[in-house]
Amino acid sequence: MRLANKHLIITGAARGIGFAIASKCVREGATVGICDLSPEAVDRACAQLEAAGGRAIPLPADVTDDVAVRQMVHVAHERFGRIDGLVNNAGITKDAQLRNMSDEQWRQVIDVNLTGVFQCTRAVADMLCAQGSGAIVSISSVVGLYGNFGQTNYAAAKAGVIGMTMTWAKELGRKNVRANAVCPGFINTSILGTIPEQVLARLRAMVPMNRLGEPEEVANAVAFLLSDEASFINGVALEVSGGIAI
Ligand code: NAP
Repeated sequence: MRLANKHLIITGAARGIGFAIASKCVREGATVGICDLSPEAVDRACAQLEAAGGRAIPLPADVTDDVAVRQMVHVAHERFGRIDGLVNNAGITKDAQLRNMSDEQWRQVIDVNLTGVFQCTRAVADMLCAQGSGAIVSISSVVGLYGNFGQTNYAAAKAGVIGMTMTWAKELGRKNVRANAVCPGFINTSILGTIPEQVLARLRAMVPMNRLGEPEEVANAVAFLLSDEASFINGVALEVSGGIAI
């Protein structure tokens, strides 16, 4: 099992891609802290993982609240004794074309998708550096690489995640703490629920494989980057998109 004895925090892990990442990580031997907004959803996710034979602890927190984030990391450290990795997965969309985008839509997406990633990573960085090992994987998006119609806020945040990742790869790499990003294409989760079917059909047609991705396909890449098999991979933005941009 490639993540045996690893203790991980995964944000936005109560459902969607985050839950798929948590499921994959426990199957690979990790203990996972499930961070998400709703305490009930967090408890349900932990119960599901435990029922499948995994080890999971609830860490309900809003990643935009720095006090809550620090407390969440403190609880994880108390319960686990150490933290080996962080997956910054929590994310939202509030789409509108540039000319119609409100300050509120801009701010909400930047707060969760950019500031949340910054705050969670800052909260674990000292611990990881002090122990001289660790892996941070942040979920960006192909939208952070290529932009997307109606997603000025989301593209800015996801491009920012790639910039932060490369910066952390340089700053923390000296302490044997690796930072990488994963850039999913369009993945079959409820975040796509607001996209009309004809637009989804166009998105599928852009992919050489002519389909959306599945959360488990993103989870496989994340688990690899968290593992010691990726011990010399630092500062990459790995596309998991079926080749959407080629
Ligand atoms: P999802 O199904 O909507 O799940 C996101 C999870 O994050 C939800 O459980 C949500 O909680 C939680 N969350 C939202 N705001 C939070 C906050 N402030 N603090 C803590 N947790 C919060 O989304 P997904 O499709 O799995 O996406 C996961 C990540 O992949 C996101 O970063 C997304 O941008 C990225 N991504 C997704 C796709 C795709 O096509 N699905 C493509 C590229 C990148 P609530 O349910 O309570 O809101």
